[in-house]
Amino acid sequence: MSDLHNLGVAALAALLQKKELSAVELATRLLARLGGNPHQAFLNVDSEVTLAQAKSADARIAAGERSALLGVPIAHKDIFVTKDFPTTAGSRMLEGYRSPFNATVVQRLADAGMVSLGKLSCDEFAMGSANENVAVPSAKPQAVTNPWDTSRVPGGSSGGSAAAVAARLTPAATGTDTGGSIRQPAAFCGITGIKPTYGRASRYGMVAFASSLDQAGPMARSAEDCALLLSAMCGPDLDRDSTSLDVPAEDFSRSLSDSIAGLRIGVPQEFFGEGLAPDVRAAVDAALAQYQKLGATLVPITLPRTELSIPVYYIIAPAEASSNLSRFDGVKFGHRAAQHGDLTDMYKKTRAEGFGDEVKRRIMIGAYVLSHGYYDAYYLQAQKIRRMIADDFQQAFGQCDVIAGPVAPTVAWKLGEKSDDPVANYLADIFTLPASLAGLPGLSLPVGFGAAGMPVGLQLIGNYLQEARLLNVAHRYQQATDWHTRQPEGQSA
Ligand code: GLN
Repeated sequence: MSDLHNLGVAALAALLQKKELSAVELATRLLARLGGNPHQAFLNVDSEVTLAQAKSADARIAAGERSALLGVPIAHKDIFVTKDFPTTAGSRMLEGYRSPFNATVVQRLADAGMVSLGKLSCDEFAMGSANENVAVPSAKPQAVTNPWDTSRVPGGSSGGSAAAVAARLTPAATGTDTGGSIRQPAAFCGITGIKPTYGRASRYGMVAFASSLDQAGPMARSAEDCALLLSAMCGPDLDRDSTSLDVPAEDFSRSLSDSIAGLRIGVPQEFFGEGLAPDVRAAVDAALAQYQKLGATLVPITLPRTELSIPVYYIIAPAEASSNLSRFDGVKFGHRAAQHGDLTDMYKKTRAEGFGDEVKRRIMIGAYVLSHGYYDAYYLQAQKIRRMIADDFQQAFGQCDVIAGPVAPTVAWKLGEKSDDPVANYLADIFTLPASLAGLPGLSLPVGFGAAGMPVGLQLIGNYLQEARLLNVAHRYQQATDWHTRQPEGQSA
């Protein structure tokens, strides 16, 4: 089997179960592909660790264990803490840090028998839309490239995850999504990813960015594969994450093939305005037409506060970030300035050296909007509008079962094109932020190509706890089309 890397999670699991392939053989093959670190997707690999995990998966298979993910490789966004690999969160602040425990999501996937290939690059503390904010000094060159065109960004902040899956370096990856960081890189790299309902997946062991928004989810080539992964990742973790939902784990694969005849797809007019590039619009329109062929009906809806989601998110997320990142003071863990005066000077120098520009920008914005005299004007206002955005969705779900639209206004942009313009990056989040602010599940699936042959994603948004529905709707599309099987040139060898 020369093309093992082309197989997805479900196909590999079937071979492993039939003992036509061993986990060690599979891991060895993929580790060989990682040599030279294509696209700079990985921040850390350790073949000894990976092969030891593969060996133990083989032992479990030999002992007769049957599990949908046993022996299948995965790689983790470097925002999840892992015992077996260092964790940096893409930051100089944590370079060299090794956690004494695994994040719950990582542990659950390991319990299911998945074999970890290593840690994937991401924007520093998950702040970014292009994976250009990687600030680990040993990662050189730092920015991750898009496998479809290496002069372009892979999206962010889970850009390493998306690039690695698209380049066939791993069949699956974990990602996190605070304001779009699973959906947007999935769209930019032509893969499938889902952010579940806030609270579905435990945040324990995920380096915190904005706690009321952060959510983990899987990134893979198909909805079918994402369903297998998500089933293992979700479930209550009440002792460790106070925002974990007390909702039992689910088999998200159970309704994948259900008919979608009669499905009402809400199409928000605000997602199709002037800012949407015509090439992206064409691919999204074609996908909606395909859904009509599959028996769905399109219902025009409105999400009137879509534009406000940008200022609201860019107040709330930095506010939470400024609080979360205050723990990095050079005392308990992380970087500490080598040369410093008194304690205050040590804090100042440590944080000045340890954080990159975008992180500092957010800490300053966050501290400002939370400060006395500005709290009511900014933070409190933003919280109120956040609630109204969530209410708008509930109104919309009175008329439709799922909502569909673009993931991002354009295809992946060129490396460096927006790196000096933070606001340009923020504006590109317009279609992913509303679902994040409302805590709703959102999925991105590839639906064609736009300008310069770059992939375009369709976003599906569901009501709370409707992950199985979203995966079903995506899977039906993927059964009828082959966009999700396309791969960038040069990746098939
Ligand atoms: N692009 C958004 C930001 O920079 C979202 C990031 C994310 O979802 N982690 O904050």
